Amino acid sequence: MNKQIRYEIFSRLREANPHPTTELVFDGPFQLLIAVLLSAQTTDVAVNKVTAVLFDLAPNPQAMLALGEEKVRDTIKTIGLYKTKAAHVIATCDAILNHFGGQVPQTREALETLPGVGRKTANVVLNTAFGQPTMAVDTHIFRVGNRTGIAKGKNVREVEDQLVKHIPKEFMVDAHHWLILHGRYTCKALKPQCATCLIEDLCDYKAKAL
Ligand code: SF4
Repeated sequence: MNKQIRYEIFSRLREANPHPTTELVFDGPFQLLIAVLLSAQTTDVAVNKVTAVLFDLAPNPQAMLALGEEKVRDTIKTIGLYKTKAAHVIATCDAILNHFGGQVPQTREALETLPGVGRKTANVVLNTAFGQPTMAVDTHIFRVGNRTGIAKGKNVREVEDQLVKHIPKEFMVDAHHWLILHGRYTCKALKPQCATCLIEDLCDYKAKAL
C-alpha cells in the first residue's frame, strides 16, 4: 500500500470521528492503567462495570493498597482471570508507590516492570494517557492491518512495527483508536461490513463482502 492511500484512509477515519478515544471509563493515568490491566481477555463493557465500583472505593494507588487484594478480588470477580488480575493490581500499586513516587511512569521500560503490564498495556497507557505515538496491536488492529494492507505482518509485533513506521505523523496519536473502532464495528472478524465501509475502495482485502 502506498503513502497516499494510507493518508486517505486515515483522513477519512478522522473525518468520520475527529476525537476518538478508548471505550474504557477512567479518570487519569492510574485508573487507565488499572482498567487496561483488567481488560485482558475481557470486554470493555465488563471492565467498566467492575471499575465503576472499584474506582469509587479506591481511586488512587494508596487507596487501592489500603483496600487490599481480597476486596479487590471480590469487586472484580465477574471478569476473567480475576484472581491473577487482583494480585497484579495490588503489586502494581505497591510498585508505583515505592518505586515511582506514586505516579504512573511515562516510559515503556518503566511501565513494563509493573506486575501484569506487558508491551500492549504499556503502549495503550503511553498513547492514551500520555499522548505518545505508540501502537498497541490487539486482535482488531491485527485483523484490520492485514486485511486492508495498511500494515501486514505474521504477528502483532510485525504489525505494530509496520504501523509505527508507516502511519503519517499527524494521525499517529489517534490511529490506535480509529483502527480498534473500525475493527470492532465495521471490519468485524466474521462478517466485515464491506458494503458500508468508508474505506472500501482503498482496502486490499480480496474476500470483501459487497
Ligand atoms: S472493505 Fe471490508 S475488509 Fe476492507 S476495511 Fe472495510 S470492512 Fe474491512
